[in-house]
Amino acid sequence: MSETLDVAVVGAGAAGLATAIFAARRGRSVVAFDGATKLGAKILVSGGGRCNVTNARVVPGDFRGGSSNVVRQILDAFPVGRTVAFFREIGVPLHEEEDGKLFPDSNSARTVLEALVREAGRTGVRFLTGHRVSGVGIADGRLRVETSRGAFGARRVVLATGGMSVPKSGSDGTGYRLAVALGHTIVPPVPALVPLVLEGDFHAPLSGIAQPVEIAVRSEGSKPVRVRGAMLWTHFGVSGPAALDVSRFWLRDRSARVTANLLPGLDFASAEKGLVGLAREQPRSQLRNALATLLPAQVAAAVVAKLGLRGETPMSHLPREDRRALVRSLLEWPLPVRDSRGYDYAEVTAGGVPLTEIEPRTLASRRCPGLYLVGEILDVDGRIGGFNFQWAWSSAWVAASAPGR
Ligand SMILES: Cc1cc2nc3c(=O)[nH]c(=O)nc-3n(C[C@H](O)[C@H](O)[C@H](O)COP(=O)(O)OP(=O)(O)OC[C@H]3O[C@@H](n4cnc5c(N)ncnc54)[C@H](O)[C@@H]3O)c2cc1C
Repeated sequence: MSETLDVAVVGAGAAGLATAIFAARRGRSVVAFDGATKLGAKILVSGGGRCNVTNARVVPGDFRGGSSNVVRQILDAFPVGRTVAFFREIGVPLHEEEDGKLFPDSNSARTVLEALVREAGRTGVRFLTGHRVSGVGIADGRLRVETSRGAFGARRVVLATGGMSVPKSGSDGTGYRLAVALGHTIVPPVPALVPLVLEGDFHAPLSGIAQPVEIAVRSEGSKPVRVRGAMLWTHFGVSGPAALDVSRFWLRDRSARVTANLLPGLDFASAEKGLVGLAREQPRSQLRNALATLLPAQVAAAVVAKLGLRGETPMSHLPREDRRALVRSLLEWPLPVRDSRGYDYAEVTAGGVPLTEIEPRTLASRRCPGLYLVGEILDVDGRIGGFNFQWAWSSAWVAASAPGR
């Protein structure tokens, strides 16, 4: 074993970089290992290359997985205001966009990565890239990190290896194996924030069309989960924020029924009233054109065809039963999910090391003294909008601030 490190951070993605910086700022000597030769692959592709660093409003309800009380405790220790101040301090001022999303003023993820690496360098963090960690064990009463280029002793080891999303970035689930070898269990992982593949031939001709919807996921015996937002029809199924946000729920229960309200905000009575109003105001308007005032025209035409209605029917001639059947379908349009696009296309992983196995005040493992866990390896996944990075920053802060030598 070559040397004994103060803090060994395994994985230098968002959570690992932040942990290394915060620990080094507290005077600890820190080495960060990463299997990749270049750091920050996921930061660079995040937010469409602009990196949605956090969100102006972050609450425990934005996350799924472990206990909301524990999530709250960790978020409260390093809330959004501190994230904004930290990034300003390292030369990355942020600005707010739609839905509270905070992006760097530069609109470039590269500036976020470069600032983190620069700050890590300034505080004395040593990076050992191209060092894939194959095992963490205990030898002679201290932790031992085995890498593809030799073994290192460490007083503390922080597992920041991420989940399984985009495995070619280096986060391929090895971290789970490392945690299990140290006594942890794993809540079975599934892809999250991932596009959904649909059965049938309805979606493909609509590829490229986005529309506002409210998607509902109904699992036997539980309250439906509803997410409102934009949905994008694609050649394979659906994507866009609303579809990504519900994906984890279907992947947790593949028998769940998924439907989209194509008239979000309307219920049966108000939607029917709207159609009756249209028929009264424009009795000669054709059904297809009338619907196109409520939906993208191509979707309206596809809906009419799918339901076997005649698009040329004047609104005043639409039988009441057809009108009511149409409204029912528009409010619960079936999305027959067959699968997801998998980890290659998933922004995050749901599942991981349960929060019950860590100490919430420090993120220390309850199974292995000296071990800490941060970021996506933990059983916490956020919705779309900067929440997953906020989890990375907050959990990094808590672990790096843990007292003791
Ligand atoms: C396309 C895309 C866009 C996204 N956009 C956003 C966004 O805009 N806003 C947002 O909040 N979230 C976004 N996310 C999610 C966000 O990127 C992740 O939640 C976050 O990066 C998780 O950070 P992490 O450090 O825990 O894990 P990761 O970023 O996955 O980092 C883990 C690191 O550990 C290394 N590693 C793994 N195993 C080993 C090993 N055995 N030995 C050595 N090193 C190892 C990996 O190489 C990697 O560098 C996006 C994700 C993707 C894929």
